[in-house]
Amino acid sequence: MKRNGNLIVISGPSGVGKSTLIKKVRETLDDLQFSISCTTRSPREGEKHGREYYFMSDDEFNTKLAAGEFLEHATVFKHSYGTLRSEVVSRIERGEEVLLDIDVQGAKQIRQAAEHDKLISAAAQFIIIAPPDLDTLKSRLCGRNSETPEQLKLRLDAAVSELQNFRIYDYVVVNGDLDTAAAELTAIFRAIRLRSTNITGDIF
Ligand code: ADP
Ligand code: 5GP
Repeated sequence: MKRNGNLIVISGPSGVGKSTLIKKVRETLDDLQFSISCTTRSPREGEKHGREYYFMSDDEFNTKLAAGEFLEHATVFKHSYGTLRSEVVSRIERGEEVLLDIDVQGAKQIRQAAEHDKLISAAAQFIIIAPPDLDTLKSRLCGRNSETPEQLKLRLDAAVSELQNFRIYDYVVVNGDLDTAAAELTAIFRAIRLRSTNITGDIF
């Protein structure tokens, strides 16, 4: 039996623990691959071009946009972010699992792309990570110490409206206890792999 890969979209407010959770899940499922997004924001301490993001100028981003290189793109917290088609399509065809850590605007665009693209339609699954409550989210985001006060306010203000979109996702995982949430996410990834829609051709 041959299967295409999956395109797993993960969203959730900044600071909810997406990176932490995915890192933990990858200790068990080591064949999950991240799509590396393009962004015009500056690298944080420890971030490397080509590892966390492709960091680029507005001009470079706009040239790629005009050339139709993005599967989805959005302005998030005053910077441009986008997923390159080249990071996604050929990998799904090779049977790989591709993770997109993108915001709700991007998730909506992938849903729209799935309406006229059979490969994306069969491969895409949508997960949102929610905090147990807003105070927990605030303390995690502050604790990370990576944002200016202005950026922090932007991210907290966006969190509620982002979470209100939970119904466009297939799964909601609450990241309270890290081990519990990581086990739930691992179970979802395992189930996604067994879906009938990504089997190509006949079963035997
Ligand atoms: P995101 O990728 O969603 O922006 P991070 O993974 O950077 O969020 O997590 C933000 C902060 O919250 C980090 O300091 C991380 O260690 C902490 N964190 C994440 N998940 C949990 C959890 N379940 N319990 C306690 N702290 C957590
Ligand atoms: P950060 O700046 O903290 O790395 O990311 C900020 C937000 O941008 C997060 O919600 C993240 O999911 C989102 N994001 C990162 N890459 C992309 C992308 O390629 N497209 C979209 N739409 N959002 C992205």
